[in-house]
Amino acid sequence: MSSLSITPPFDLSIILPFHNEGVTVAALFQRLYPVLSRLGLSYEVICVDDGSTDNTYAQLCREREQDLRVKPVRLARNFGKEAALTCGLHLARGRAAITIDSDLQHPPELIPQLVEAWRGGAKMVYAIRSNRDADGPLRKLLTKAFYALFRHIADVQLPEGAGDFRLLDRVVVDAVNAMPERNRFMKGLMTWVGFNYALVPFEVAPRSDGKSHWNFLRLVRFAFDGLTSFSTLPLRIWTWCGSMISLFALGYGIYLTVRTLAFGIDVPGFASLMVGILFLGGIQLLSLGVIGEYLARVFTEVKGRPIYLIAEKEGFHSAPDTSN
Ligand code: UDP
Ligand code: MG
Repeated sequence: MSSLSITPPFDLSIILPFHNEGVTVAALFQRLYPVLSRLGLSYEVICVDDGSTDNTYAQLCREREQDLRVKPVRLARNFGKEAALTCGLHLARGRAAITIDSDLQHPPELIPQLVEAWRGGAKMVYAIRSNRDADGPLRKLLTKAFYALFRHIADVQLPEGAGDFRLLDRVVVDAVNAMPERNRFMKGLMTWVGFNYALVPFEVAPRSDGKSHWNFLRLVRFAFDGLTSFSTLPLRIWTWCGSMISLFALGYGIYLTVRTLAFGIDVPGFASLMVGILFLGGIQLLSLGVIGEYLARVFTEVKGRPIYLIAEKEGFHSAPDTSN
């Protein structure tokens, strides 16, 4: 599915994840079409409906009636944006793919610049958000903290402000598709593969309608996924902590023994005992928790369940596509 032995039949695959975006579908295509037609490239628009409960899929099918290059895919339930993007990349048959949010926060008008950078030789083109005005102050702060932490401890370097609005050359698409993991922190996966890249800045627009699907807990879970997929430092750090504390405990033990031998038994010591017990108890629970986080992810990988399930799709033929 992932690697193409034949020449890709399209120049561009546009990949859009939709989750209850029924209200923006029409506006989105109104802005997308003029941009795409000006490019003078052949393209397909893969619309992954990620288990919407509104009329998103019906709207996408209506768009297909207007233009056969629109290809709606409906997932069996809400699998999450990362799974929706994975599905889109699996189905994409273009020489390059562009992933872009469907809520119009990513301006389609930027696509020609991405394509230009790709033609200039970049295998991956990141659209870099130059503002975060659309986010609340708490989310802005936490996002900044997460990326700072990620940069320090993770094995891949995410450019500051890089999101899911990107262009990926076929080699990158194939590389990402070849990665079997279930915990898909797409930003990380796409960056991990490497290749030369270019950056194109853009201003994030406010959401056209509805509200963000990311609440605080979901974001925290996402951040954990990102960190644990790309760093083993949280696991290894406990070896160091444990060694330091053990060394300290050994020294303290020797000191106590010597003191008892020299000055006799000293009864007071309740406070230091309690502090020691609580401190060590806390550290142990924390490190167990971290191991649990990794173990849970190993469990998910080992089960090897599919990342997404497709309920229905239109416009994907195994025979040569004549819709273009
Ligand atoms: N999305 C999705 N599945 C989900 C949540 C979101 O496909 O479970 C899509 C959503 O339709 C949008 C994009 O992912 O096109 C970004 O979502 P959102 O705007 O909620 O995130 P934010 O912009 O706040 O990061
Ligand atoms: Mg959004």
